[in-house]
Amino acid sequence: MRNQGVGSWAARRARMAPDRVALIHEGRSHTYGEVAARAGTLAHRLAGLGVRRGDRVAHLGPNHPAFLDALFATGLLGAVFVPLNTRLAAPELDYIIDDCGARLLLWSPACAATVAGLRTGARAVPLDDVPGVAGEPADVDVTDAETCMIMYTSGTTGRPKGAMLTHANIAWNCVNLLIDVDLSGDEVTLVSAPMFHVAALNQTVLPTFLKGGACVLTGGFDAEATLDLIAAHRVTCLFGVPAMFAAIARSPRFGTADLSSVRSLLCGGAPVPEPLIATYQRRGLTFLQGYGMTECSPGALFLRAPESVRKAGSAGTPVFFGDVRVSTPGGGDAAPGETGEILVRGPTVMAGYWGLPDETRAALGDDGWLRTGDLAVTDTEGFVYVRDRVKDMIISGGENIYPAEVEAALLAHPAVAECAVVGVPDARWGEVGRAFVVSASAVDAAELLAFLDGRIARYKIPKSVVFTEALPRTASGKVVKARLRAPVPDRRTP
Ligand code: ATP
Ligand code: MG
Repeated sequence: MRNQGVGSWAARRARMAPDRVALIHEGRSHTYGEVAARAGTLAHRLAGLGVRRGDRVAHLGPNHPAFLDALFATGLLGAVFVPLNTRLAAPELDYIIDDCGARLLLWSPACAATVAGLRTGARAVPLDDVPGVAGEPADVDVTDAETCMIMYTSGTTGRPKGAMLTHANIAWNCVNLLIDVDLSGDEVTLVSAPMFHVAALNQTVLPTFLKGGACVLTGGFDAEATLDLIAAHRVTCLFGVPAMFAAIARSPRFGTADLSSVRSLLCGGAPVPEPLIATYQRRGLTFLQGYGMTECSPGALFLRAPESVRKAGSAGTPVFFGDVRVSTPGGGDAAPGETGEILVRGPTVMAGYWGLPDETRAALGDDGWLRTGDLAVTDTEGFVYVRDRVKDMIISGGENIYPAEVEAALLAHPAVAECAVVGVPDARWGEVGRAFVVSASAVDAAELLAFLDGRIARYKIPKSVVFTEALPRTASGKVVKARLRAPVPDRRTP
């Protein structure tokens, strides 16, 4: 096999064990042999449509075996896979498809209505009807330094940026994950978080693939269905963001459901609130948490099982092949307890942002350290505590407030199901905090603010509370704080 890239992974596993189950979807199993054969056929067909090395192939679809066919087929040609977020609106999709200059848009029948509303000039081809061609697939030699995917960032702080991830970036990320998590060839990994997001695909599905385990794919997340799938398939590994694990824990069946097969809970994207850690501990389950970002393929820090309780609240220490330092504004190393920006270096750091040379230079500098835009402190043992994004920090009367700390304090109140704190302009203090709360039971603003008094410093206590039905979130479950900063005079409580 001349292809050294991710595109060859299905074929490599099929060469060793064609009959092993790779995917389970809607009750049907797909072996590695089947996946590899389909990917080879699709690659040949894509070549027939003119796809060549370096061309971008966008994909729009939910978690489904065809998603992986498209990923491997694209990689077999040395082309670049661009997974699109199915929850984006048409103009947002058009922006990404045109930004990456996609030669082709492969779409799932589940997304037909969305595709009908797109205005992009890229040729759109339904995944279940890619025209056949004669002849044999070619074995394209692809090196691991070539770009495998352009993954767009979540767009939490602005327009999504296309992080160019090489085959090597992704392979090293899998190695790092497998060094920290004992995934085995018998793994049954449940993937209900969307694979168009970096964590589900690179941190869960592809490492499971490398080991020859099986992934159970679901088209969407549902807490009750998750409990059913765990029991039906004897799921051993579960990946999700904190909001998903919280929803599972709220199920009336959580305390009694059969979770005996589960060995690993992988959680990323945001810190796991301590009450949630405790809830799962009571069921004998420990979170493995990490910190990462699309630009790092994504893993940078990892909190391993032995420390997950002792160091609750920390994102851990660097992954095996990766270095992390917390930098002061002057560029030196922050002392323990001193807040600074997280910088990451190593083989999983992206090649750059597609089409954005200035942003790439700003992020990667000339020293190879990626500026993450996230603030953190380390303790004396080197464990990193992510405080917040530089962009979300509130400066109130000259004091720095990290909303994540205030949110954690609010979440300790039993009536607070979800919350987000943002800075809003204030004539006296420059900025003050405002809390947005989704309540689980009756509670008022005065009670919540009184609850915070004594738990966090007075200046950190938000000046107002807005109760809301739901927080605006990205498809990966993150709160879009920019939308909360807009004025909300009519619903404001004192
Ligand atoms: P954009 O870059 O477009 O604004 P985004 O940063 O949300 O969007 P992602 O790459 O999906 O896009 O997310 C990475 C970010 O998620 C990190 O930079 C960090 O702010 C946050 N994050 C990830 N893991 C953790 C964690 N364990 N604790 C706190 N924050 C985390
Ligand atoms: Mg980001």
